[in-house]
Amino acid sequence: MNKIILLPPEISQKIAAGEVIERPFSVVKELVENSLDAEASEVRVELLEGGRKLIRVTDNGEGMNREDAILSFERHSTSKIASEQDLGQIATLGFRGEALPSISSVSRILLKTCQKKGKQGIMIEREGEELLSVSDIGFPPGTAVEVQDLFFNLPARRKFLRSERSELTMIVKHLTGVSLAFPEVKFSLSHGKREIFNYPPVGSLKERIYQIYGKSTLEKLMEVDYKEEDLGVYGYVSAPPNGRSDRSHQLFYINKRPIRDKLLQAALNKAYRGLLEKDHFAQAFLFLSCPYSDVDVNVHPAKAEVRFKDSQAIFHIVQRGIHQAILKSQGIKKIYPAEEERKIPRIEERMPYPHMKMREERREIVEDLFPPSAEAEKIYPHILGQYLETYIVASSDEGILVIDQHNAHERVLFEKYKEIDNKKKWPQKLALFPLVLELSPSQVLSFEENQTLLEEAGFRVEAMGGRSYSLKEFPDIFREEEAKDIFLSLLEEIEKEKIEDRKRMLLATLACKTAIKAGEFLAIDKMSYLVEELFQTSNSSLCPHGRPIIVKIERREIEKGMKRR
Ligand code: ADP
Ligand code: MG
Repeated sequence: MNKIILLPPEISQKIAAGEVIERPFSVVKELVENSLDAEASEVRVELLEGGRKLIRVTDNGEGMNREDAILSFERHSTSKIASEQDLGQIATLGFRGEALPSISSVSRILLKTCQKKGKQGIMIEREGEELLSVSDIGFPPGTAVEVQDLFFNLPARRKFLRSERSELTMIVKHLTGVSLAFPEVKFSLSHGKREIFNYPPVGSLKERIYQIYGKSTLEKLMEVDYKEEDLGVYGYVSAPPNGRSDRSHQLFYINKRPIRDKLLQAALNKAYRGLLEKDHFAQAFLFLSCPYSDVDVNVHPAKAEVRFKDSQAIFHIVQRGIHQAILKSQGIKKIYPAEEERKIPRIEERMPYPHMKMREERREIVEDLFPPSAEAEKIYPHILGQYLETYIVASSDEGILVIDQHNAHERVLFEKYKEIDNKKKWPQKLALFPLVLELSPSQVLSFEENQTLLEEAGFRVEAMGGRSYSLKEFPDIFREEEAKDIFLSLLEEIEKEKIEDRKRMLLATLACKTAIKAGEFLAIDKMSYLVEELFQTSNSSLCPHGRPIIVKIERREIEKGMKRR
């Protein structure tokens, strides 16, 4: 029996902007969604040249018969919805009937499919809008779609594709996310001859997290399992006070569909307020479930965002789910008191290099690199005090300066790190204990790609087999306890940048991670020292991330306000 129908125009017009194929990543996403919708228990993705040359997705799902296979390339042909009503309760990942036609119009495509054991397999060859051939073949149950030379007929598009590496990274991240939603499915990804990952089927989300991120990640998580009527939230989130120093591991799903959602992010952050170490974020792999009719998935071209009927209810269930999990874990240990228990490193240790005890040899390094400034005469703003343990308040000729202590220190350190880096003189520290890192596949890629840059900055890492690595040496600007965490955030942050900006990003991230934080008490002399250093830098108005450092209240303004002018 045929399963695919052509949607009548009155429905197809209601389908939000068509699925856009922008890059190899979009092709992989759509094809894998089709495999999962076909209930495959095995999905294999193979790429050549970051997907530009070839993307092949093979599954062992339900397959298609001859007519369906031909029809599947027509616009708005789908087996997943049939009526307008269905559009209001979508249970599959795909529904627009647009992916195959869109992909095929910009590539050379080969589709092989077979429904059940013993049935006739079929192969379809297309090039752009043209059907080249349809033939009977022997093929195991399932479907394989091979997409070659993406954008071969749109040279301008092809020219502007991003690098092979950045495409690969995006694909790895996406498939990692999808594989978390379907632990019972075997996923593998290879790039040329290299197998990037291979996750055999497992029985639970917990085991899948273990396969991807390893034991050390899993140990810092706790389970969330909470229901209220027809709303549910399930998954794993940070067990306080553990967190990560970046937000890259906050994944949300609705009915197994990975989504981006500001509201869910806000709910997560709020639930953890005051429970994590400073400047840390919760990790989360959170699966929401609600009736299909309570969420509109037809609002975003790449189906990456959704609209909830009752977003308040969603917000609250996430919060309550997490709170309940925290209370449960409290049975053994009490909720981490945010401020009291945290060890705040003494400020001396952070100035001018954080955590550096100013031992003699260190002082030498510093003075060697930064001889006392020649312009000792220069008049610096006069420190009045600290406000909210976050801002330094100072007076100058022009008025009152409110200086953000973190941003200011970040700028100062950034300039110093730049100088150290130019001279290739990073003070290195040998790890006392083996710092073993279990990297995720996307972190492995980032490490390989940026190894030289990281080594230049004093990180020495040895491969230990599989995805395990050992951090042997690191730049002597932070404590050993912080080294792993900082190294991992570097891997996440650095690949967000274009190659030529990565060095800058690395130095900026190191500066950010090692600068004084907001909320730290500073004595007057420390503040004077920091402000002097700040005014000696080339750019005292913006931190390396482009955030302002100083807000000035002009003297004229004050006098005007006082009616003295
Ligand atoms: P949609 O997924 O929105 O329905 P697509 O263009 O992605 O639209 O696919 C069209 C149809 O082709 C699907 O509805 C499905 O019936 C069929 N199809 C596509 N890929 C597969 C697959 N891997 N296995 C079985 N059927 C498939
Ligand atoms: Mg689809």
